[in-house]
Amino acid sequence: MNIISPIDRSNVAPLEESFSGQILLSGDDGYDISRRIHNGMIDRRPAVIARCAVNADVVDALAFALENDLEIAIRGGGHNVAGRAVCDDGMMIDLSLMKGTWVDPKRRRVRVQAGTNWGEFNRATQLHGLATTGGAVSSTGVAGLTLGGGFGFLSGKCGYTIDSLRSVEMITAQGEVVQASDEENADLFWGLRGGGGNFGIATSFEFDLQAIGPTVQGGMIAYPFSAARETLRLLRDLTADLPDDLTILAGFTHTRDGQGTKLAALVPCQCGSSAEASASIDRIKSFGTPVADNLGPMPYSALNQIFDAGVPKLDLYYWKSCFIEKLSDDVIGILETQFARCPSPKTKIFVEHFHGAVLRQERAAMAFPHRDEGYSILIITQWTDPSDNDRNIAWARETYDLLAPHSREGAYTNYMDDDESKTRVRQAFGDNFPRLQMLKDQYDPTNIFHRNQNIPPSAAG
Ligand SMILES: Cc1cc2nc3c(=O)[nH]c(=O)nc-3n(C[C@H](O)[C@H](O)[C@H](O)COP(=O)(O)OP(=O)(O)OC[C@H]3O[C@@H](n4cnc5c(N)ncnc54)[C@H](O)[C@@H]3O)c2cc1C
Repeated sequence: MNIISPIDRSNVAPLEESFSGQILLSGDDGYDISRRIHNGMIDRRPAVIARCAVNADVVDALAFALENDLEIAIRGGGHNVAGRAVCDDGMMIDLSLMKGTWVDPKRRRVRVQAGTNWGEFNRATQLHGLATTGGAVSSTGVAGLTLGGGFGFLSGKCGYTIDSLRSVEMITAQGEVVQASDEENADLFWGLRGGGGNFGIATSFEFDLQAIGPTVQGGMIAYPFSAARETLRLLRDLTADLPDDLTILAGFTHTRDGQGTKLAALVPCQCGSSAEASASIDRIKSFGTPVADNLGPMPYSALNQIFDAGVPKLDLYYWKSCFIEKLSDDVIGILETQFARCPSPKTKIFVEHFHGAVLRQERAAMAFPHRDEGYSILIITQWTDPSDNDRNIAWARETYDLLAPHSREGAYTNYMDDDESKTRVRQAFGDNFPRLQMLKDQYDPTNIFHRNQNIPPSAAG
């Protein structure tokens, strides 16, 4: 692999000469902060970190990596639990300095660079009372989330994040800057809406926005864990017929005091004024005896930060997830029983519901094929002491295995941890996989962009 080992300052001097961002080597100030991503389980040491500021930096960094046979990892927001944004020994092309945002309120459009996170996205667009579906945690990167599909508090109204995506600027394996949209390189644009970082380095994204906020009805209402089953049954009843302007996230969590007190919670977001949505919010408000209730009018950008403190950078994380069609009593029972015995007081289980705008696209319309009503179950195992790794990971796997008979085929690549099989990645794309592989052959036939949920070129099988 790396043919100039170890890389020192003299090796990178020609790259640094015109570089607008920063080139970091081991021992440099900022190297250790930059190489660490959200998941503390990932502790890798790239030979070079290229912190790009402009597109030309990305092109030069890519050329340097290829000339020196360095493995390439691309970092957007650094949230991917599998840690594909960073590699040992190779080059991390870090886009997190690229945070330009340009809102056109008249056309209800925004273009953001690839280092922007959802907090920054919302901050810029909410100035104009505009938004689209983004991640539920503000520090998640726009880039990785969008390239993988993207769902969140506005999915019912705006669809998946890719449903609002209008164009992507991308740097190819040959270092060319290309645009992808319905009008230009339409095939590539199809693949970028769900196919991840498999085809090149995306440097900016353009989205349609809708009039949403700045105030929505949202927040968390939490019940004692003894009401776990009834809370998920309420979710099941409410989601049987949900208007587009109400999306409800639910699940099990712990109080943040470290005492291990378990909670069942509903986190709705009503972004419109339909009578049906208001009636559902009223129904939630009159349910049970909450131990905490901040459900009410709140800024959309504050709702987007509601989980932030509960999922800090560098905690240890391991995720499993699946799609299920129905929240049956059996599924609810498994979730409740398993959560009751989970080993860490930081662990969570999220139940995310799909309805409304996400269902109004064909499976083949974009690379991301999941267009069925139902739920995503996300098992977020979270702890801090490495000696607890094995039992937390074992618990997550066991929970996932128990859910398997109830799950749909398919998976969300953005929720996959590092140990998913090639078959499961393939299943995540369903019938769209062969077309994605053809695109891979066209744009990255030697698989230089492989640190992702990888679509191998056809020659590789
Ligand atoms: C706390 C937390 C909350 C989350 N909430 C949600 C949620 O509400 N909804 C949801 O859909 N998902 C959510 N996710 C999952 C999220 O979509 C993925 O983790 C996603 O990969 C994050 O993107 P990123 O840019 O932050 O990640 P990174 O780790 O930087 O990148 C992820 C992958 O994409 C590639 N990549 C990143 N940027 C580029 C680029 N510009 N060009 C090409 N390839 C690139 C990377 O190489 C890597 O393979 C959440 C994750 C976390 C940790």
